[in-house]
Amino acid sequence: MSEKMQYIPIAKPWMGEAEAEAASRAIMSGWVTQGPEVAAFEQEFAAYVGANYACAVSNCTTALHLALLAVGVQPRDEVITVSHSYIATANSIRYCGAIPVFVDIEPQTYNINPMLIEDVISKRTRAILIVHQIGMPCNLKAILDIAHRYQLPVVEDAACAIGSEILWNGQWEKIGKPHGDIACFSFHPRKIISTGDGGMLTTNNPQWDKQFRLWRQHGMSVPDTVRHGAKQVIFESYPMLGYNYRMTDIQAAVGREQLKRLPEILEQRRYLAQRYQEKLADVPGLKLPTEPSWAKSNWQSFCVRLTERCDQLQAMQQMLDAGIATRRGIMCAHRESAYQTEAWSCGVEPKACECEVGKCDRLSESEQAQDHTVLLPLFHQMTEQEQDYVVEVLKVACQF
Ligand SMILES: *Cc1c(COP(=O)(O)O)cnc(C)c1O
Repeated sequence: MSEKMQYIPIAKPWMGEAEAEAASRAIMSGWVTQGPEVAAFEQEFAAYVGANYACAVSNCTTALHLALLAVGVQPRDEVITVSHSYIATANSIRYCGAIPVFVDIEPQTYNINPMLIEDVISKRTRAILIVHQIGMPCNLKAILDIAHRYQLPVVEDAACAIGSEILWNGQWEKIGKPHGDIACFSFHPRKIISTGDGGMLTTNNPQWDKQFRLWRQHGMSVPDTVRHGAKQVIFESYPMLGYNYRMTDIQAAVGREQLKRLPEILEQRRYLAQRYQEKLADVPGLKLPTEPSWAKSNWQSFCVRLTERCDQLQAMQQMLDAGIATRRGIMCAHRESAYQTEAWSCGVEPKACECEVGKCDRLSESEQAQDHTVLLPLFHQMTEQEQDYVVEVLKVACQF
C-alpha cells in the first residue's frame, strides 16, 4: 500500500485517555481481577438498559453458555436459533450438549423469521435463542407470543445490540431490559463499545443472577471480594461445577468509560448510517438495510445487498485495492466444517432431510444473505470524506 493512499478499516473502537486512566486506576488500586470496578460496571449497565440485574463475564460466548444453562438446556435438548450468525451463537448451544435447530431469516432484516419458528418446535425443544443481528432488533413481539404459547424461555443474543431500541407498549425501550428471559452482550472491539474482550448478562430473575455469579467464579460459595474484606476466617465451598468466566477490574474500569461515550457513539453511528442511506439510495439494484418502524438499530454494521451481476468477492477485492476494508455478510454456521456432522438440525427428521453438506434448502435466505451482502466501514471517528470515498469506490466496484 502506498504511503499516500488512505486506509479505511471496517471498524475502530473509540477509546482514549479516559480509558487509559481508568485501566491505570484499576492497576494502581492493587485489585485487578473481578472486584469493585466490575460491580460498578454491572450497576451502571443494568441502569442503562433498564434491567434489574446485570452480571459481567469474560465475553458474550460465555454469557450465552451460562444463559442457556440457567434456562435449563441439557444434553440432547434442542434449541431453536439461526445458522446465520456469528458461529459463537450455535457453539454455545453445543457447549450444553444440545442441538441447534436452525431457522431461516427474513431477507430484509437478516433476523430470524418468526413465521418459521412454530414449525420446528418439538418435544425436545428447550429454548429459543434469538439474535439481534448486527444491532437490528428482532421481531420480539411475534417471537415472545410463540414462546409463551409453548412455555419456552427466550434468550437474546444481543452481542451487537448495545443501545438498540424497540417500541414496547408505546415506549422506546433498550434491548437488554430484557424482553425475553436473559440477554447477552459483547464488548469485543468489533461491537459498539469495548473492554478488549468482555460480556454481560441481563435478567430480571434474581435466582438466575445469583446462579451466574456462582458459575462465573468456579462455583465458589464465597466470592473472593467477600473473603478479602472479612474480619473472620471464611472457608469457601464448591457446591456445583463452575467455570472461570470472570471479567477483570481492568476491563470493567475501561467499560465504565466506554458506557459514558455510548450516547455519543450511537448518535454518530445513526447519523452516518442515514448518510449512507441517502448517498446510496439511487444506486440501481443495490438493496439497503431496512429498519422496521418499531426498531432503532445501533448500526453495528451497515449491510448492503449486491445485485446478481455484481460479484461479492470481486467487489470486496476492488474496494480493498482502493484501501477500504469490507466484510462478507454474516456467516452461516451450517456451512462450516465444524457443523458438517450430526451437530445440527433444520427441524426435519435426519432421515427425511435432503440437505447436502453445507447446503440446506430450508436455509436458503441465510445462504443468499451470506453470498450477496457486504458490510461497509462504519465507526465513530469516520469522516464524511471517508464515507464519500467508500460510496464512490463501491459504485465503481460494481459498475453501477
Ligand atoms: C460477536 C458475537 C458473539 C460473540 O461475542 P464474544 O464476546 O466475542 O464472545 C456472539 N454472537 C453474536 C451475534 C456476535 O456478533
